[in-house]
Amino acid sequence: MSKTLFEKIAAREIPAEIVYEDDKVLAFRDINPQAPTHILIVPKMPIPRIAEAEAGDNELLGHLLLKAAEVAENEDLKSDGYRLVINNGRNGGESVPHLHVHILGGRALKWPPG
Ligand code: AMP
Repeated sequence: MSKTLFEKIAAREIPAEIVYEDDKVLAFRDINPQAPTHILIVPKMPIPRIAEAEAGDNELLGHLLLKAAEVAENEDLKSDGYRLVINNGRNGGESVPHLHVHILGGRALKWPPG
């Protein structure tokens, strides 16, 4: 299987501004930011999308969300708030088939999304 875009970023084959990394997850700045702070946090294991996650991914997904909150706090987003987004499939707006959580902050975000 060929590597996903985000696996290539984790392997340093494609450059990105990495803000957090451990053995399970990687966080880096989105190349096309939709807010003053826009970071993607991904599991290093390439689960294609949340709909494909399995019971065995329970711990990894918990870790991913807790680290998303930690990254947001480190980016000074905690007091004003921020949004975590997972796009799933065509109607969800998914464009990269490697599970990722968007961390968006630094401005007031509208709801509902268009
Ligand atoms: P989604 O539409 O939810 O699948 O989000 C994919 C995100 O990946 C988009 O916000 C893109 O801007 C972002 N993206 C695509 N290529 C790169 C890259 N090379 N480095 C960082 N972010 C990227």
